[in-house]
Amino acid sequence: MTRPSPRAPPAAKTPGAPLRVLILGGVGEARRLAERLAGDPRFAGVMSLAGRTSAPLEQSLPTRVGGFGGAEGLRRYLAAEGFDKVVDATHPFAARIQANARLACAALGVPLIRLSRPPWRKMDGDRWIEAADTVAAARLLGPAPRRVFLTIGRQGVGDFRLAPWHEYLLRTIDPPDPNDLPPRCEVILARGPFARDDEIALMRAARIDVVVTKNSGGAATYAKIEAARALGLHVVMIAPPLCLGVMVTHEIDEALDFLAASPSS
Ligand code: NAP
Repeated sequence: MTRPSPRAPPAAKTPGAPLRVLILGGVGEARRLAERLAGDPRFAGVMSLAGRTSAPLEQSLPTRVGGFGGAEGLRRYLAAEGFDKVVDATHPFAARIQANARLACAALGVPLIRLSRPPWRKMDGDRWIEAADTVAAARLLGPAPRRVFLTIGRQGVGDFRLAPWHEYLLRTIDPPDPNDLPPRCEVILARGPFARDDEIALMRAARIDVVVTKNSGGAATYAKIEAARALGLHVVMIAPPLCLGVMVTHEIDEALDFLAASPSS
C-alpha cells in the first residue's frame, strides 16, 4: 500500500467548490475577517479558538474550540478537514500557535498568511522603556517601590512575583490564577475598548506611576498609552515576539486577496 506523502497536494477539488479556509483566531482582526468570509460564496471558512476566555464573543463562521495537540495535531486536523488555506490571525503574543501554524502548513504545503495589527509606534511625549519580555519588564520596574498598572493579560503575571515590593493594579478580562499574583496586587476585570479619559481617571485614582503593557497594537486598548502620555507616566513596553518565515499583512483586504488568489499566483 502506498501512503500519501505528507507534502502531497490535497486531492483535486470539485470545480466551483468554495475554498476551505481555517482562521486561527482569538482577536478582533480574526472576527472581522470571519464576517467578510461569511458573506462570500467563494469561501467556506472555519474559526478556531483556543477557548481561553469564559465568554467568547460570537463569531460569524462555524467555530471549533480548543487546542489541536501541537504542530502535529494541527497538521493532522488540516489534512483531515481538507483545508486549502490558513489565516493566522491570532494575538501578536500567541507565539506557540503561530509557530505551530508555520510548521503544520509547511509540512502540508498549505498556503499560510499572518493577519496582524501593526504594533504601536512611540510618539512625541511617550516615555517608553522597551522590554523583551515579562521577566525583563519586572526587572525594569527597579528597586524602589512603585504603583504599577499591569495591563498584560493573564499570561506572564507570575513573573511580577520577582518584584514583590511594588504595588500592582492588574486589569484582565477573565480572573487570573491567584497563585500567579504578586503579594500586593489588586485585580480589576474589564474588557476593552477603553476611553482615554476613563483611563486617565483610573490611573489618577489608583495613583499609578508606571504602566506595564504588551505592545499588542490596535485601537481597543490604545487609550492607556494616550493616558500615560497625558499624565507623563513611564510605560514599560513589552515587544511582541518576532514573526519570521511567513507572509504578513495588516490589512483584511490583502488577506482576502491572498485567499482569492489561485495557487500559482
Ligand atoms: P499560545 O501560547 O500561542 O498558544 C498556546 C496553545 O493554545 C497552542 O499551542 C494551542 O494548543 C492553543 N491555541 C492557541 N490559539 C489557538 C487557536 N486559535 N485555536 C486552537 N488552539 C489554539 O497562545 P496564547 O497566548 O495562550 O493565546 C491563546 C489564544 O488567545 C490565541 O488564540 C490568541 O489569539 C488569544 N489571545 C491571546 C492574547 C495574549 O496576550 N497572548 C491576548 C488576547 C487573545 P495546541 O498546541 O494544543 O494546539
